[in-house]
Amino acid sequence: MLNIILFGPPGAGKGTQSEKIIDKYKLTHIATGDLFRKHLGEGTDLGKLAQKYMDEGNLVPDEVVIGMVDEKIKETQDSSSGYIFDGFPRTVPQAKALDTLLEEKGEKIAGMIALDVPEEELKKRIKERGKTSGRTDDQDEAKIENRIKVYQEETLPVANYYDGEGKFVKIHGVGTIDEIFGKISSEIDKLK
Ligand code: ADP
Repeated sequence: MLNIILFGPPGAGKGTQSEKIIDKYKLTHIATGDLFRKHLGEGTDLGKLAQKYMDEGNLVPDEVVIGMVDEKIKETQDSSSGYIFDGFPRTVPQAKALDTLLEEKGEKIAGMIALDVPEEELKKRIKERGKTSGRTDDQDEAKIENRIKVYQEETLPVANYYDGEGKFVKIHGVGTIDEIFGKISSEIDKLK
């Protein structure tokens, strides 16, 4: 299996690039934000629980996220040749839990690819996305600011965690979608 984490702040382009990665490398996509929005849309208990955190741009509690990812891996592992994790892990406890989940299956994270995008560009992209995404957290200045703050305080340490394991690589995330994908692909090829 080839297991990769696509990392970066809100609005960095993880979703867009994930689609191209899945297409080329045939990996299974686990995007926790998408999974929460699906639960929300279906009105499940998990969706109701996550909603108040998501609405404010705060993180859903670790044990809830980890449980959801564990379930998703169990559902897909027999048919998967590897995973691309998108929007997860977002805290160091989530990263440690993911390592444990994978170890139990004799698997590991091959690497983390981080998209680096300046804060002004992030805000611009999120607001633009808010015009069509229907996401309330994309439409409110204070919520966008809070998501970026939460990223800096709670999520950035995850990059140090993987850097400490020699598994971290940073890519400049401004340019055309194909230019950025080209750089991501050459990093993934090194991990294979
Ligand atoms: P973005 O990265 O553009 O902010 P996501 O779709 O990845 O958007 O996430 C949307 C929201 O879902 C987050 O603001 C958070 O409330 C929740 N969420 C997603 N992934 C996680 C996670 N791994 N841990 C905690 N909360 C999460």
